[in-house]
Amino acid sequence: MGGQPLMSNLTFDKIRSQKSAIETLTRALRSGRVHHAYRFEGPDGVGKEQAAFALAQALVCEKGEVFGCNACSACRRAVTLADEDPRVPKHPDVVLIQRGLYPPQSLGSTNREATGIGVHQIRRIVVGRAGYGAHEGRALVFLIRDADELTIQAANALLKVLEEPPPRTHFVLMTSRPHRLLDTILSRTLAVRFGPLPDDVIEEILRERGLDVSGARLARGSASHALALGDAEAREAREAFEATMRAAIEAPDLAPAIAIGSAIKDRATLHTRLSDFAQSVSLLGRDRVSSDARAAEVAARQHAEIELALQSLEANAQPAFVVEALVARLRRA
Ligand SMILES: [Zn+2]
Repeated sequence: MGGQPLMSNLTFDKIRSQKSAIETLTRALRSGRVHHAYRFEGPDGVGKEQAAFALAQALVCEKGEVFGCNACSACRRAVTLADEDPRVPKHPDVVLIQRGLYPPQSLGSTNREATGIGVHQIRRIVVGRAGYGAHEGRALVFLIRDADELTIQAANALLKVLEEPPPRTHFVLMTSRPHRLLDTILSRTLAVRFGPLPDDVIEEILRERGLDVSGARLARGSASHALALGDAEAREAREAFEATMRAAIEAPDLAPAIAIGSAIKDRATLHTRLSDFAQSVSLLGRDRVSSDARAAEVAARQHAEIELALQSLEANAQPAFVVEALVARLRRA
């Protein structure tokens, strides 16, 4: 079959410390009353994704085992991702949605999804697919990673399917920031809550991977955070770039902008840093919408400028020139 199973031997009882969430799901499966739209809420890296894939596996199992047999071809393909991009499940009825997962041209779009799951992805991958029902018969399952990144347009397109779901079609929206979802999405999805993992479980996960367990407490209950702490370098680089950009915007002249431009010569690195910066500005703006309308407007204008800079970088403009021109415009935004 090829490809590595995403989670080998994935069963509900392998998911650690999420007793109430797992009980909710196994009870629904046992009674044959699986809700058509769940919202898995909780911090990153606590088992939401494992539970979502376990549910998908149970729903598509060709042996019809209540919790999935974890052995048939359908079960295995449900949790095995393609070897090549887009890295989506091999089972055609387990459909993954995530910002930037699909190349824009395959969605009939020209824009990269730099800051949100766009309406093109929802139209092409969800709406277009849902109409045909399950390919292999049992169920069609859409798994939406970081559902809080849906743009308003995308959320509204999704809403139409959530309101009148085709038979045997299920959705799992995963999010660590449910307050960022539209009220209409919240009211049409059933919350299943996942809590932070206890420190001893985090230590166990780190130990299994041969990593130092001393940082377990810093991870605040998130296995993925605990693993990322190991990659402190990437985080530092991201934070340092944002800090120097913000300082350059406030500076009396363009000298700091010129310094940033000459420090980053590599196009791909600058692209990554600017995309992260755009994401950070966008999240900041969304957080301020209700409390500080002016700050939210400034963030929206800054975000649009960074997007333009990314486009000119993609159109082969010189990295140093892109940074200088961007800072000059952000100072006026
Ligand atoms: Zn099976």
